[in-house]
Amino acid sequence: MDVAKTLTFSVGPLVDQTTGTNETYSFHGPVKFEGIIPATDMKGRVEIMRIDEGFNVAIRNTEIKVKLSCEKCLKPITTTIKLDFFEKQFFLDEPKQPEDPNDLYLVDKKHLTINLAEPLRQEIILHFPVVQVCSESCKGICPKCGTDLNKKKCKCKIDPKNDRSDKPLAALKELIKK
Ligand SMILES: [Zn+2]
Ligand SMILES: [Zn+2]
Repeated sequence: MDVAKTLTFSVGPLVDQTTGTNETYSFHGPVKFEGIIPATDMKGRVEIMRIDEGFNVAIRNTEIKVKLSCEKCLKPITTTIKLDFFEKQFFLDEPKQPEDPNDLYLVDKKHLTINLAEPLRQEIILHFPVVQVCSESCKGICPKCGTDLNKKKCKCKIDPKNDRSDKPLAALKELIKK
């Protein structure tokens, strides 16, 4: 299955139906999201319901494994992201006063399809684990010499007040902010 097709659904059968009519689809296939590295295909279930302005889309039981890196030692790790339920509205015509322009989704009226890639991308990122570590006992890398402290010790003296060895990424993010 083609990456672009996994998360594209036809609303053609529903467009001429009355409000409240719905269809359910399952999906399972390869996906691509900006800023996310999938480690598996994605699967889930979608219920599309005709509403006055377009369609209400309920997305259920979604699961995907994604690749992240350990915050302490930067080693690659794989995490399962499960999204039980969320819903979005897809509009046939752009509302004149959208509630939130960043959360506005439109039906592709030419092909009568909707694409769930962007709402799913945002939802996956919201569900990233708060603490991303390869193991709870990970010792991280030395902020001075870069030695992987899981593998060996180094001779650097770390000022305990300034110890960022457990959070190289946090230290990096602070640097970027300045
Ligand atoms: Zn680690
Ligand atoms: Zn060191």
